[in-house]
Amino acid sequence: MTLQQKIELTPFNTLALPGTAACYQKITTSAQLTASELLATKRFILGGGSNLVLNGDFSGLILHMAIPGKRLLNEDADAWYIEAGAGENWHDFVQWTLRQGWPGLENLSLIPGTVGAAPIQNIGAYGLEVAERFHSLTAWDFEKRAFLTVDRSICQFAYRDSLFKQQNWHLSGRMAITSVIFRLPKIWIANYRYADVAQALAAQSITTPTPQQIASAIITIRQHKLPDPAITPNAGSFFHNPLVDHKLAEKLAADYPALPRYPQADGRVKLAAGWLIEQAGWKGKSLGPVGMYEKQALVLVNHGGATGADVRRTMAAVQADVKAHFGIALTPEPIFL
Ligand SMILES: Cc1cc2nc3c(=O)[nH]c(=O)nc-3n(C[C@H](O)[C@H](O)[C@H](O)COP(=O)(O)OP(=O)(O)OC[C@H]3O[C@@H](n4cnc5c(N)ncnc54)[C@H](O)[C@@H]3O)c2cc1C
Repeated sequence: MTLQQKIELTPFNTLALPGTAACYQKITTSAQLTASELLATKRFILGGGSNLVLNGDFSGLILHMAIPGKRLLNEDADAWYIEAGAGENWHDFVQWTLRQGWPGLENLSLIPGTVGAAPIQNIGAYGLEVAERFHSLTAWDFEKRAFLTVDRSICQFAYRDSLFKQQNWHLSGRMAITSVIFRLPKIWIANYRYADVAQALAAQSITTPTPQQIASAIITIRQHKLPDPAITPNAGSFFHNPLVDHKLAEKLAADYPALPRYPQADGRVKLAAGWLIEQAGWKGKSLGPVGMYEKQALVLVNHGGATGADVRRTMAAVQADVKAHFGIALTPEPIFL
């Protein structure tokens, strides 16, 4: 295996930030991962680069996961078990499952990126997290030099979080996920409790939506609300929605009656980071080439020619203003490389 040298990474991250990789290898089969040439000290596993802030040149090895394949692995009386290669495009995979008549992932339509990255931050949208449909995954462990099967019970999925993030494997490049198995229950329950989705369906006089109709509604909403990275480079929601204790939420609500609050099962309250950013005056505002999107203040956009340093500068300014207004520290969602 001959590794490629000095590869430009701008096309490989949806924020279109500049930087080169000292070494690069596209991975299209699991077997390639076992090659000794890949035992670099500094390694990063790359999917679609849609949750990534590149800080400039990377002096290590980038492994670009492009393992293809999707199939019905098994079925029982209760569920279909679908396996997909880590390099499959997430949205295309979701639409394929729907065409096959295996619903359950429709609420996660149009999330950019790859199948292999989906468990890393437990992707979620419109009332569904991938954890709810996840069965198990296979990964190559560079430390143990073995393929491992990791099932749901040990993934420690939480809001935009998993074991992979908690152990920092996503930064050390220890685990390369090669395939994921999803469990899609045969009893399908329509999930359109999110106000936007319910309204979009009601506007079309749809009272008992099909999975495809929910997917179409979500695709239309997302296309309207979120910038297309191919036109306006971005990494989706840039900050986590903060989880605060009940007392702080009530105190803030007394000062800001319009504050959206989402009580959680553990007693904490989730606040909408986009609302806080908007109230702090950042909706549509920029600092140099980087700003917060005019239609959705939670999305940080590169207006052209930005570097990782520009992104960090705008991020810090937004965090400082939200802290000054509300006393809340915002945590970024993307991975910083
Ligand atoms: C417009 C837009 C909208 C978005 N909307 C949402 C949303 O609604 N919900 C949501 O949750 N996210 C959303 N995101 C974020 C992003 O799409 C997801 O986090 C996605 O899962 C990232 O996939 P990726 O392949 O691009 O991963 P990358 O950005 O390439 O990598 C992300 C992390 O995963 C690791 N990784 C990637 N592939 C593998 C692998 N095979 N094995 C091991 N580690 C791996 C990387 O090392 C890195 O730490 C959005 C992004 C954009 C640009």
